[in-house]
Amino acid sequence: MKLQNKVCIVTGAASGIGKEIALTFAREGGKVAIADLNKEAAQLVADEIVAAGGVAVATAMDVTSEDQVNAAVAEVVAAYGGVDVLVSNAGIQIVHPIEEFPFADWKKMLAIHLDGAFLTTKACVPHMKASGNGGSIIYMGSVHSKEASVLKSAYVTAKHGLIGLCKTVAKEGGKVGIRANVICPGFVRTPLVEKQIPEQAKELGISETDVIQKVMLKETVDGEFTTVRDVADVALMFASFNSNALTGQSLVVSHGWFMQ
Ligand code: NAD
Repeated sequence: MKLQNKVCIVTGAASGIGKEIALTFAREGGKVAIADLNKEAAQLVADEIVAAGGVAVATAMDVTSEDQVNAAVAEVVAAYGGVDVLVSNAGIQIVHPIEEFPFADWKKMLAIHLDGAFLTTKACVPHMKASGNGGSIIYMGSVHSKEASVLKSAYVTAKHGLIGLCKTVAKEGGKVGIRANVICPGFVRTPLVEKQIPEQAKELGISETDVIQKVMLKETVDGEFTTVRDVADVALMFASFNSNALTGQSLVVSHGWFMQ
C-alpha cells in the first residue's frame, strides 16, 4: 500500500486517465476525491471504488471556478482531514488552424488547463503546509508540453505552461516538502482522443485510419497507444515518492514519440 490513508484529489477523474489514476490510488490505500464537472459520472467512479473496498468521495468541481475549487477542496478537507496529493488532470481538446481559432475557444482552453492547475494548487498548498508533511502535486501535461502539432495552438501553449507552473511550485514548496511534477503522455485512447480522430480527419483531409497511423502514432517506436494504466503507474510513482529528490520534473510516457 503505497498511499495508505493519503488524501488524494484527482480532477477530471470521472473519465479516462483521471479515472484510472483514482482507481489506482484507491487500490494503494488512498482516500480519493473524484473531482469533476460531471458529478454523476464522478459518483459512479466513487461508487466503484467503495464497492471494491476503497475510500472515495465524488465532488462537483469546475476547475475554472475559484469558488467551486475552494468549496470542493474545503469539502474534502472536512471529510478526510487534509490533502496530501493533488492530481491536476481535468482537460479538454479543441483543434483549429490558428487563423480560424475562435478567441472564446482559446480562452476556454487556457482556463481549463492553466487556471484549473493554478486554482487547485493554490487551494491545496495551504493544507499541505499545515499538515507538516508536505505533499505531491502532479500536473497532467502531454507530449505537447514539449513538442507541437498542427491545429493545437491553445493546447500546446497550455501544456507548455504547466511546466513553468510546476517548476515554480517545486521551488516555492521545497522547504515544506511539497513536490511538483508533470506527466507528459503520448496519445491515450480516451474519449478526449476518440473525439479528435474524426475532427482531425476532417481538418487534414485524410482518413481516420491515417489520423491514427500517420499523425497520432507515427513517431512512436512501435505504433502503439499509451494506456491509462501506463499513465496511472507514473502518477503513483510521483505521488508516493518520498523526498524532494524528484521535484520540478516532467516525464514523457509516449512509446518513444518524444525523446528528451
Ligand atoms: P477525458 O475526456 O476522458 O476526461 C477528462 C475529464 O475532465 C472528464 O471527466 C471531464 O468531465 C473533465 N473536465 C473537463 N472540463 C472540466 C472542468 N472545467 N472542470 C472539471 N473537470 C473537467 O480526457 P483524458 O484523455 O482522460 O484527459 C485527461 C488529461 O490528460 C487532460 O488534461 C488531457 O489534456 C491529458 N492528456 C490526454 C492525452 C490523451 O491522449 N488522452 C494525452 C496527453 C495528455
